Amino acid sequence: MDKQTIAQSMAAYREAMIQATVALCAIPSVKGRPETGAPFGLETKKSLDAFLALGADLGFTPVDLDGYCGYLDWGVEGPITAVLGHLDVVPAIDGWSHDPFSPIVTDDKIIARGTADDKGPLVSALYALKALKDEGFVPKGRIRLIAGLDEESGSACMHHYSEVAELPSAGFTPDASFPVIYAEKGIAHIKIQLKSQPGQSFSRPDGHGQVLLAAVAGQRANMVPARCDLTWQDDQGHVTTETYAGKAAHASLPWEGHNAIGVAMATAAQRPGAHPMVQLYQALIADDWTGQALGVAGQDSSGPLTLNPGVLKLDLERGSLILDIRYPASWQVDTILARMTAAVAPFQATVELVSHTPPLVGDPGRPLVKTLMAVYNRMTGANQVAIAIGGGTYARAMPNIVAFGPSFPGEPDVCHQVDEFITIEKLLASAAIYREALRELAG
Ligand SMILES: [Zn+2]
Repeated sequence: MDKQTIAQSMAAYREAMIQATVALCAIPSVKGRPETGAPFGLETKKSLDAFLALGADLGFTPVDLDGYCGYLDWGVEGPITAVLGHLDVVPAIDGWSHDPFSPIVTDDKIIARGTADDKGPLVSALYALKALKDEGFVPKGRIRLIAGLDEESGSACMHHYSEVAELPSAGFTPDASFPVIYAEKGIAHIKIQLKSQPGQSFSRPDGHGQVLLAAVAGQRANMVPARCDLTWQDDQGHVTTETYAGKAAHASLPWEGHNAIGVAMATAAQRPGAHPMVQLYQALIADDWTGQALGVAGQDSSGPLTLNPGVLKLDLERGSLILDIRYPASWQVDTILARMTAAVAPFQATVELVSHTPPLVGDPGRPLVKTLMAVYNRMTGANQVAIAIGGGTYARAMPNIVAFGPSFPGEPDVCHQVDEFITIEKLLASAAIYREALRELAG
């Protein structure tokens, strides 16, 4: 069956699902300042309240876990089959063709931050439950739809969940791609740092000519930065800031973006008075996302190592560049750190591991993976096998969960991007697949 045919079985819920997606995406649930009862900011809490109210209206039992996350329960006892999604979103900064938090509904899609990642998919899962309920299906045990509020910044929401709530026995997260993802690469955020000698700066030793005073780019290492600002001082002492543009993309797919840091560094390298980080960048990174010159390139069955220079800060005393590195699931992060330390040493720079998510080493033969693969192949008529990927999915945040959809093979990756959207067909088709998956897992 094609997507359109699969979507048809959810057509009765089309309007309600669009409304629900629009309502959730109108809340700018970017992580914010902690408040009482809202550890990730008031807007994230507002999105949770709205989601739990939607589910309660459909007959499921809402539970708020101290503003960290929440869930909707169907059934009162027995093992939990879970669907795990998230309501927090990444910031929407430059380049949107309209307000990213005023959703636009066209004939075939909904456009707003969070439509694809991950509010739309949560709505698909919610209506999968609703459709089963309307049919008179009774789950064996419980079905729990969990909504986290900190997926984009380290999943502290799920640490809290595992401290205070019961873990599921099986389930999936609709926060990636079809078919089933059984293994995920390791993710290391590694900072390359440079410091000037005590009492000195990186300005030109003769005190004359043009000097790069500062550079700044990127908010989060897990995005390809779309903008880099360089501030120069000329030999008359005039200060000007130049902005370089790139194209944003998810850090696990660096080839889909165009890194603004790379554009800016290539220009800066042409001029005298550039910061030593500029030379380091040109020698060790430049336009290469494979890590060749850093000595870390390579691959295994989970795919190649990828590298994204995500956050840059330079001034006259120091420089720091945070790289988002996705490394093959069979590798060790210590090896990567050792090789990078050696590569940056000639530039008097150091490396530091700022955050690390170990790889998810999975088994394509486990029953959960086989069941979901069978549902997917049956519904789509495909004959696919479970895959390994470079993106870190929410599946790492909770045991017994694998990533399953909602992006279909061949669809563009719009998560974290300008003018993020979900097609209504995808919203409905993934709901139909989730409905059948839950029927199998909880039937
Ligand atoms: Zn997500």
